[in-house]
Amino acid sequence: LSDRILEQAHLPCVTLDDYPVSLFINAGLSAEMENTNFTYGEGVGLYRTEVPFMLRERFPSEKEQMTLYREMLQSAPSKPITMRTLDVGGDKPLPYFPINEENPFLGWRGVRLTLDHPEIFLVQVRAMLRANIGIGNLQIMLPMVTSVSEVSESKRLIKQAFHEVSEEISGTGKILEMPKIGVMLEVPAVIYQIPQLAKKVDFFSVGSNDLTQYLLAVDRNNARVSGLYDSYHPAVLAALNSLVADANLHETPITVCGELAGEPGGIILLLAMGYNKFSMNSHNLLKIKWVIRSVTVAQARVLLKEVLSCDDPKQVREQVNQYLDSVG
Ligand code: PEP
Ligand code: MG
Repeated sequence: LSDRILEQAHLPCVTLDDYPVSLFINAGLSAEMENTNFTYGEGVGLYRTEVPFMLRERFPSEKEQMTLYREMLQSAPSKPITMRTLDVGGDKPLPYFPINEENPFLGWRGVRLTLDHPEIFLVQVRAMLRANIGIGNLQIMLPMVTSVSEVSESKRLIKQAFHEVSEEISGTGKILEMPKIGVMLEVPAVIYQIPQLAKKVDFFSVGSNDLTQYLLAVDRNNARVSGLYDSYHPAVLAALNSLVADANLHETPITVCGELAGEPGGIILLLAMGYNKFSMNSHNLLKIKWVIRSVTVAQARVLLKEVLSCDDPKQVREQVNQYLDSVG
């Protein structure tokens, strides 16, 4: 990292026109292996729990999961750690749980799979709740939510896990806390269901990677169509714009945790839309902080207005790059 980026690492994360912004990190491995820099971020905005599952030869036991999660929660006990429940299927296969489908990206993934296998979900949530005893910084997030009923059903299971663990620890003097529960906004259907979802959850987090893939009907890992996969597509930007407006209207906190939040051009457009919480790979955090400290939301809004009327991603990119050059 360049000196000018490192120099401002400990300064407040605010835009030139004084809009405060919160930055979190995306994590995937154990806290130790990740060697994550917790000092600069305000916590973990996305812990991809499927990663440790993918590195094993069988499902980790409740005890193994508990140990892993506790280590993660303890690594920053005063900061929120958002753990996403198992998001396998699609591009994230489990070697010991083969799924054969013609269309895996439109198939059995994320919360769909864990609702069909509540025993997997319950073990994981119990491990999270246990790991959180005495720390209290856990938040739980559900991946690939398409319908409100999936949230109701998942919450019912989380309550069940809560009662089971409560019974087990009763008499020990330990106190079990109910964590905040949120959902990923990454299936286009949710663009039209924010009012209903807001009644059910404590927070939202936009998965711009999958939202782009599903909105544009472009496989995010298929080289043949990779030129068509672009989060700067005007339709994706319009969707992101609508999500934050609706979430704000329904007073539900919203974060962006997809890759777009870790890109300088992306962060400027998202700030202009009204987002002020972002989660990203830790290696992007200080660079993004530098960008935030170098721009005004007022200017970013002028840019956003222009790009929302563009015809294609290429035009958007040109305008955004021009703006970035002007900022330095
Ligand atoms: C996303 O879809 O944008 C996201 C953050 O989740 P993942 O990349 O793990 O699917
Ligand atoms: Mg996703």
